Amino acid sequence: MSHFTIIGLGRFGLAAAQELIHLGHTVTGVDNDPKVADKYVNHLTQVVVCDATDENALMELGLTGSDTVLVAIGEDMQASLLCTLALKTLGLKDIWVKANTRAHHTIVSKLGVARIIHPEEDMGARVAQALNYPMVTDFIGLGDGFYVVQIIVKTRLEGRTLAEVCDDNQQIIEPLLVKRDGEILRNLELDFVLQTNDRLLLSGKRSALTRIAPRLS
Ligand code: ADP
Repeated sequence: MSHFTIIGLGRFGLAAAQELIHLGHTVTGVDNDPKVADKYVNHLTQVVVCDATDENALMELGLTGSDTVLVAIGEDMQASLLCTLALKTLGLKDIWVKANTRAHHTIVSKLGVARIIHPEEDMGARVAQALNYPMVTDFIGLGDGFYVVQIIVKTRLEGRTLAEVCDDNQQIIEPLLVKRDGEILRNLELDFVLQTNDRLLLSGKRSALTRIAPRLS
């Protein structure tokens, strides 16, 4: 269990806070609007009304170097930047910042923040992927064109082997695992026979995954 501080309880900050609570962590929510704080006081571990651009006010929150702090103020770039700067000055190491624009991103990265999040863009890319390959129910981009994709096996693929559905003769596609009836099946051979509703995780280059996509739809 970890402790997180989320600054700015707008839609994004609140969604992140509630998910962390759901995952069993503790979350302090910070917002300068007392009405917002009042609304969520019973949803989070603790809710504090504070102007997060004020370094002294932030210091009083007693954030320690080991806390992860997410700055989820998106609209007001100036407030987000001042808050990030204050957190840096207080010596916090693990700072995540939501950035709404390119300029916001550039300045935050100059402040030495390692994790900059673009929820709208990330979500947009995910939705586009899903529309493009509806059989891919989730994916992780690993960089350099490599992806891990999750596919739910359709009825029409029942009885097919992995070789039949994911053998791309140009590049390697690796079947990582199958989740079937609550069990994880590993070390899959190419003669592994698929069943309807198997959750199949494949990894490989996007180009190779795109080539085999029509066989999986
Ligand atoms: P979203 O798009 O996710 O809804 P917003 O940027 O609209 O994000 O919301 C950010 C939240 O941050 C709002 O609830 C606002 O009251 C809060 N906020 C804005 N400025 C500050 C500040 N200086 N200190 C603390 N909270 C702030």
